[in-house]
Amino acid sequence: MTSACLVTHSADSSAVAILHELFGYKDFRGAQAEIVAHVLSGGDALVLMPTGGGKSLCYQLPAIMRHRAGHGVAVVVSPLIALMHDQVGALEVAGVHAAFINSTLTLEETQRIEREMLSGRLVLLYVAPERLTTPRMLAQLDSLRERGLLSLFAIDEAHCVSQWGHDFREDYQALNVLHERYAGVPRIALTATADDLTRADVIERLALSEARVFISSFDRPNIRYAVVEKDDARRQLLHFIQEEHQGDAGIVYCQSRRKVDETAVWLDRQGISALPYHAGLAAEVRRRHQDRFLRDEGLVMVATIAFGMGIDKPDVRFVAHLDLPKNIEGYYQETGRAGRDGLPADAWMAYGLADVVNQRRMIDESPAVEAFKRNQRGKLDALLSLAEAHDCRRVRLLAYFGEASVVCGAHQNACDNCLNPPATWDATEAARKALSGVYRFLQQRGQRFGAGHLIDVLRGKTTEKVAQFGHESLTTFGIGSDVSEAQWRVVLRQLIALGYLQTEGDYNTLELTPAAREVLRGEVQITLRQPGVASKAARVAKRGKGTSAQRTRGKSPPLPLDEAGLARFEALKAWRGELARERKLPAYVIFHDATLAEMAHTAPGSLEAIENISGVGAKKLEAYGRDILRVLGG
Ligand code: ADP
Ligand code: ZN
Repeated sequence: MTSACLVTHSADSSAVAILHELFGYKDFRGAQAEIVAHVLSGGDALVLMPTGGGKSLCYQLPAIMRHRAGHGVAVVVSPLIALMHDQVGALEVAGVHAAFINSTLTLEETQRIEREMLSGRLVLLYVAPERLTTPRMLAQLDSLRERGLLSLFAIDEAHCVSQWGHDFREDYQALNVLHERYAGVPRIALTATADDLTRADVIERLALSEARVFISSFDRPNIRYAVVEKDDARRQLLHFIQEEHQGDAGIVYCQSRRKVDETAVWLDRQGISALPYHAGLAAEVRRRHQDRFLRDEGLVMVATIAFGMGIDKPDVRFVAHLDLPKNIEGYYQETGRAGRDGLPADAWMAYGLADVVNQRRMIDESPAVEAFKRNQRGKLDALLSLAEAHDCRRVRLLAYFGEASVVCGAHQNACDNCLNPPATWDATEAARKALSGVYRFLQQRGQRFGAGHLIDVLRGKTTEKVAQFGHESLTTFGIGSDVSEAQWRVVLRQLIALGYLQTEGDYNTLELTPAAREVLRGEVQITLRQPGVASKAARVAKRGKGTSAQRTRGKSPPLPLDEAGLARFEALKAWRGELARERKLPAYVIFHDATLAEMAHTAPGSLEAIENISGVGAKKLEAYGRDILRVLGG
């Protein structure tokens, strides 16, 4: 027992030393230290950590340390061929010998890397799963293994192995070969998404029942969550970007390819540099756009969910949803791409009735088996209640992942509901009126109508359609004239989201569900947020703070800099940009914005002073220290 502790302890302290030496970071975050120590000592691990939590170091450090101890090469399985180049580039810049093998390499390049690997000189090798399980690669791994030069396997995006996850990949299924063929070689599987079901599935399929499971808090304290009522979504988006994120890099998610294309063109015309990304674009175009997003500053990527997995650009300042994602896992993973550098970032979503209807219909019309559809409906419902919530969104998000938390309240990046508690109203009576309205249509002539017409009838509007169907004579005509049209839309959306109403057919006509009875009988209490109205307390608070309540976050630079500091920051960025172009790497691989900002802020006058800045490792200090002094001095 004592000796085990000693081993762990000494391993741990040298891990911190390497963390500092190679990556320039002072401390481990969260469970990183524990995970590193566990894998280092040969244990298997399943790591659940939110996006941006710092998963890479959990396998990179053990790989480096095991390599130093003579254990050879670590193999990293990743589905993200397009990103391997940058991941490897970042390691090489930090002074770690790494490489990737994938279909983008020539035969000569591949053979060169294979030699590096077989000699055991390589520290980390990145491969896609389909490549890993080829006979050629397996034979090479066998050879390494026989010579004790196979140090560990890291399986990134491990949820891809599960059909319950949302990125299922056939190739991942074959990864059970690792356990069978290389028993005893430590394996670490990592993912940012795993509800209980997916987690159990990953453990079973990758044979990780003996693995230690590390579950980190899923909270992303630097992300502010906000959901707005869709009104004119594109305008709302533009307003959001202009007000809060002018010049920042961000991702805008849309559901359809067409909407992606249109939104990108539109944003661009409004003066926001934007590019489209979806599976309908040629591979070459997609690659180019992704590259520009990673390399340029302040570009907005408008994309379907085809974009983003594994994008580790640290300075994405916002993720916006113009359409509702399928479930909370998807939402969390997509929004998690914001603010990986730990600086404030926004997760913003516009949400409306059509979203609910579309998502429901997509599930209903999918060819999947009923059990699967039921599972998907349940997940959608959870997301809807998040969108409709008038209490803390962070609490709800975390609760979904089984984590208890306290309201984000007065925190710097509090969610919209905590920041501006919405006014609510008792909509129980209105809900009953709406359901009666639907019922009366049916009773009159067995007809069904959509939300727009129902609202007109409830509000007592004499439209053409009302006249045509003689709906003035209904007892429900005009019974809801005291409720605004916007409020009615919320009521209907809520009734659909809660499953009291459903929509049918191409015209989305409304129909009662069996559960509607409970509402009609007055057995259900429904409290809704007042559209567009903040609570009195929030209004008072805002007025009290005056303009200082206006947010200055989100804009670069990430630190408050004075004029001279700002000039230094710009100079450093220009220098970094040039270097990045030369090395054909994204700028953040050289240094993060946060690191440059700290340099601009403290204006270090010596190499020692630069070394103290977070994000500057020994290799980078040696390579760039003098340049930095020159840039700062001149
Ligand atoms: P994940 O893969 O979990 O999404 P990454 O491994 O990409 O996250 O890490 C997210 C960011 O946090 C990266 O920019 C990384 O350099 C940084 N990071 C990770 N660990 C630390 C640490 N201990 N101290 C400071 N920064 C860290
Ligand atoms: Zn909150």
